Amino acid sequence: MAGAVLWAYYNMGNCIFCKIVDGTSKAEVVFRDEQVTAFHDIHPAAPKHILVVPNRHIPSMNEITPGDEALIGHLFSAARQIAEEQGIAGEGYRLVINTGTYAGQVVPHLHLHILGGADLRHRTR
Ligand code: AMP
Ligand code: ZN
Repeated sequence: MAGAVLWAYYNMGNCIFCKIVDGTSKAEVVFRDEQVTAFHDIHPAAPKHILVVPNRHIPSMNEITPGDEALIGHLFSAARQIAEEQGIAGEGYRLVINTGTYAGQVVPHLHLHILGGADLRHRTR
């Protein structure tokens, strides 16, 4: 399923990350509060690979409005706390938000990747 069709499918209540947020799909959740949920990536690209998502369905950074500034700030604040709790803050970690097709965004529910637990300096993604 490609591009626009996939986007429409996700907007019809079929979003995997919404289902993880509401508990109808399983994930290894490491953090949850009233605004965001964080869980281990199912296909880790680093020894520690955690996704932090807003609990509200927002497809991508392209749909962020000025009214979402506190939420986005909280997303990063939660990521900082999770990095600390996961023991990767000291050595360092990478935060990534893929937006749209050319960035390789495959799940159209905004998510912040936390990548750590290894030296990523030689890697571009
Ligand atoms: P992106 O390419 O930025 O859209 O990244 C989507 C990420 O979601 C990928 O790293 C996938 O491995 C991850 N992912 C997809 N489905 C699940 C799932 N059910 N539980 C955890 N991670 C998932
Ligand atoms: Zn969603």
